[in-house]
Amino acid sequence: VTNIPRVLPALDETNKDFWTSGLDGQLRICRCKDCGTWNQPPGPLCRNCLSSSVVGEPVSGRGTVLTYSVNRHQWGAEPTPPYVVAIVELPEQEGLRLTTNIVGIDPEQVRVGMAVEIEFEAIEDVAIPVFRPVA
Ligand SMILES: [Zn+2]
Repeated sequence: VTNIPRVLPALDETNKDFWTSGLDGQLRICRCKDCGTWNQPPGPLCRNCLSSSVVGEPVSGRGTVLTYSVNRHQWGAEPTPPYVVAIVELPEQEGLRLTTNIVGIDPEQVRVGMAVEIEFEAIEDVAIPVFRPVA
């Protein structure tokens, strides 16, 4: 856990599950109970069938780096550069992606297609999902 300064998300009824789920170490993604579609970012209605029966369900926590960039500029209350901003695709559904950080590795060593797994940075009342290379 790096405990770096971050801008924390504002919690509401729709996104609270996502941002607090990791406090117990488990990533949960908003899923429709009617059609089974995973919805990320979370919303009050399923994007596929418009059902309001959506709930955070556990996922494996594994993923693949789809694309990434290395930020080298200090923009404000953010992690200390350089750090990696990445889009990670989850295996649970094609196109199910998180914008996140890759940690635990030299930013120059990150590669597209790299297998990664979840970890969380617990800050105040939220748990920020980030990924590290699979050992
Ligand atoms: Zn649905």
